Amino acid sequence: MFFGLLLLLGSPYFAAAEPAAEVVVLGNVQDAGLPQLGCERRCCVREDGAPQSRRFTASIAVVLPASGRSFLFDATPDVREQIALLSRRPSYQRPNARRPVDGVFLTHAHMGHYTGLMHFGFEAMATRDLPVYCSERFASYLRENGPWSQLVSMSNIVPTAMMPGEPLSLSDEVLRVTSFLVPHRDEYSDTVGYRIEAGGESLIFLPDIDRWTEDIDVRRLVEENDHVLVDATFYSNDELPGRDLAAIPHPRIVDTMACLADLPAERRARLRFTHLNHSNPALQPGSESRRAIEAAGFRVAETGDVIRLGR
Ligand SMILES: [Zn+2]
Ligand SMILES: [Zn+2]
Ligand SMILES: [Zn+2]
Repeated sequence: MFFGLLLLLGSPYFAAAEPAAEVVVLGNVQDAGLPQLGCERRCCVREDGAPQSRRFTASIAVVLPASGRSFLFDATPDVREQIALLSRRPSYQRPNARRPVDGVFLTHAHMGHYTGLMHFGFEAMATRDLPVYCSERFASYLRENGPWSQLVSMSNIVPTAMMPGEPLSLSDEVLRVTSFLVPHRDEYSDTVGYRIEAGGESLIFLPDIDRWTEDIDVRRLVEENDHVLVDATFYSNDELPGRDLAAIPHPRIVDTMACLADLPAERRARLRFTHLNHSNPALQPGSESRRAIEAAGFRVAETGDVIRLGR
């Protein structure tokens, strides 16, 4: 019996308990983070005048436990602490002294999603040939505009264009990543979301979108994927008194929940909200809006959450 247990522990069957990939949530706040500069309301400042506990801008990392390879999705202004958080995962292995991860995927050129690249430059970590995957337009923007062009000319980063809809295989095909275009303010780059596949399961990372469309339909994302992390900047139009929120894009949490209300509970549980504005009451565990989200069978992605793909 004891011998049998030893055999089981050494068998490939037991080793298969390790997931193909671990997705680590590294932040869940809109670009400006929390506390947000200039906000004097209770969301960002405590009653005694001290700042509220810091929360990081939306980002995830994917770690492949079998190889120790890791990939960051969006390089936020909080990237220093986020890599430190990632490095505490037992499955994470730093690739080498000049690389904190094996590659970085970027969604778009708004401040919360790419300016963390500055920490890969000469004045900071000075990474060596770090692949930065993004759209063709975004890759050109990085190559042609300072300060980012200096990271390219010094070989800190290698902008690597991905075509939307064309899957990229990584790490001996353990991981497959496909970008897809989404509607958003596109001043310096276009905007993409990512479909991440490993071990026969898939996860959507879509932190910023102006509205759900026929092509990018949250219902279909939830039907067709095992885990879905989506833009939840605002809870509802009541959130910022005095502002015409109807004129500010982003699908409201209440509307996204209404789109999915009649799905079976097992499907609803696939959805996690991320990229919450500092003013979004759902950021606070125990708030009325957080309780409404959870009662409806959805979740808010929390920093430190780990989602396993391919169990
Ligand atoms: Zn954003
Ligand atoms: Zn605030
Ligand atoms: Zn944006």
